[in-house]
Amino acid sequence: MAVSKAEIERRMKRFAETCRTGGLKTTHQRMEVFRELAGAETHPDAETIYRHVRRRVPAISRDTVYRTLATLEEQGLVHKAEIVSGRGRYDANMEHHHHFICTACGRVHDFYSPTLDDLPIPKSVSALGRVESTQVQLRGLCTNCAKDKR
Ligand SMILES: [Zn+2]
Ligand SMILES: [Zn+2]
Repeated sequence: MAVSKAEIERRMKRFAETCRTGGLKTTHQRMEVFRELAGAETHPDAETIYRHVRRRVPAISRDTVYRTLATLEEQGLVHKAEIVSGRGRYDANMEHHHHFICTACGRVHDFYSPTLDDLPIPKSVSALGRVESTQVQLRGLCTNCAKDKR
């Protein structure tokens, strides 16, 4: 399942709009970093994004990619998905969604569920702080890995 053309276009449009209203230059390199994420379903980490963008933009530096990701995050265009230990993974899907994480290959799939969006929060959580968002992570074997196991 890939990100649809229409959805990528929608994300690129939001990128252009956000840059305009935020007074951010839509440089070629910045746009290519965002495009990489806008079309990615895999929640790549910064290093993977760098490797992929470099194929299209050989002159781009690792530093630029990292700084661009930080800027995109500041602008609310991508968010860091706290998924597996260690490296932060980036996600251009800003809709309320949840993750299915494969414990074998590490792939992260988005899914939507109005039921999970409105999950009842246990009372005990109020002692810990105010909840601002909820995201559910499910772990298991993805269909590809399950196939390999058989
Ligand atoms: Zn898998
Ligand atoms: Zn996601």
